[in-house]
Amino acid sequence: MPRVSPTRTPMAEQAAEDRIRNFDEVPFGYTAEEAMIEAQRCLLCKRPTCIDGCPVHINIVGFLELAAKGDFRSAINLIKESDALPAITGRVCPQETQCEQVCVMGRKYQPVAIGRVERFLADWEASQGDMPVPELAPPSGKKVAVVGSGPAGLTVAADLARLGHGVTIFEALHEAGGVLVYGIPEFRLPKAIVRREVDYVRSLGAELVKDFVVGQTATLDELLEDYQAVFLGSGAGLPWFLDIPGENLSGVYSANEYLTRSNLMKAYLFPQYDTPIARGRRVITIGGGNVAMDACRTALRLGAEESIVVYRRSREEMPARAEEIDRAEEEGIQFMYLTTPLAIHGDEHGQVKELECLRNELGEPDASGRRRPVAIKGSEFRIPADIVIMAIGQSPSPLIPKTTADLETKKDGVVVIDEATGKTSKRGVFAGGDVATGGATVILAMGQGRTAAAAIDEYLKTGAW
Ligand code: FAD
Repeated sequence: MPRVSPTRTPMAEQAAEDRIRNFDEVPFGYTAEEAMIEAQRCLLCKRPTCIDGCPVHINIVGFLELAAKGDFRSAINLIKESDALPAITGRVCPQETQCEQVCVMGRKYQPVAIGRVERFLADWEASQGDMPVPELAPPSGKKVAVVGSGPAGLTVAADLARLGHGVTIFEALHEAGGVLVYGIPEFRLPKAIVRREVDYVRSLGAELVKDFVVGQTATLDELLEDYQAVFLGSGAGLPWFLDIPGENLSGVYSANEYLTRSNLMKAYLFPQYDTPIARGRRVITIGGGNVAMDACRTALRLGAEESIVVYRRSREEMPARAEEIDRAEEEGIQFMYLTTPLAIHGDEHGQVKELECLRNELGEPDASGRRRPVAIKGSEFRIPADIVIMAIGQSPSPLIPKTTADLETKKDGVVVIDEATGKTSKRGVFAGGDVATGGATVILAMGQGRTAAAAIDEYLKTGAW
């Protein structure tokens, strides 16, 4: 037996029957005592595998050792050397497939709940009042434009501001945070927390210009006339559709639109906010990732009597975070696995009435390593529905590549970068996050942001490309 508990310290959360009727955050987070007890479970490995498991290489063992002793100030300072957004990553990172997956405790027992301790430390710091600004390098006199204020852009902005460079973030929307504000719902990531982290990045000296659409308000080439380098962190906001009959019917949403209406435009607070959103009795969400989980759980909170997920593979292949699938199940979301949508049928008013589907069985693994769904002939059936939400993936918007000379993209609109530096095909332009990977994760976007920031610093100093 280890010297400490083999199981992780539980984290209190709202009961499922309560939380499906509100948009408040589901877990309550650790108390100081719980965070210390959990941090004490760390074995303080001499060669910690957890740090390699983290895309931004947070000194996990270091911060857990400090937290275990109750030195929360030093612990959070250590995290922020590598991660400018710990309250966010502590909440939404898929730790179970990253740092916690390779935690040595996890070989025999439950891995240390690294994300929960990280989240506690970030919230503890916020509860202490103003967040201290770390020492900044003297001004370099160089200026960098950052396109997009999602996790990639915010990370680049924070790193470059700390290095003394002038940073301006250009954001198309009226609020900063990218998917963190328009995609991920309040019950998983409260927007006050995103604002707090954005304010921290601004406190480092980064300027934020909102309602500025690069490619429309000004082109990327025009930005390059005023800035010595540009970081493109414009994400992947273009939703995919299945290209099946009936997608133009009233009641069909992309998850992007559905979640933006609810989260960014606060439709869930209608009529205090005047954004409408259709509230169906039976809502079907198509997909199996985090986006699908957020959409189906939002539908439930907006009053759906039945919220159903249709996914073409099985539970095992679902790419959503395990914790969020568990929570969706607890909340009463129904899952129809091994099911492929064929068509959406409408009523005489052009309103969604049914989703026609086909049953699958699992075949051999495909290029993604997941077992391929194979249709079972003659297994067509229909499910009644008022609303259908498409949550099957997204790609980068073509706006910037279309209005920029020499910016190489792949067929799916993803901007081509050199992985080691974030350099694009265009001199002075770097990119990272979803615009360079397609829909991925917050921490991967931040990891690419860190890589690009280091390369931009080098470029500004040497001018070498
Ligand atoms: P984004 O967050 O998309 O930010 C890009 C920003 O650029 C946006 O603010 C956009 O408005 C702005 N922009 C776009 N075009 C322009 C332009 N032309 N001019 C100016 N600004 C522009 N990941 C996880 O790790 N865990 C999760 O639990 C999770 N859940 C998710 C749930 C949903 C609903 C979604 C959609 C994604 C989720 N993800 C999750 C994925 C994660 O949010 C993304 O991988 C991450 O936000 C990508 O960061 P980014 O900075 O590259 O882009």
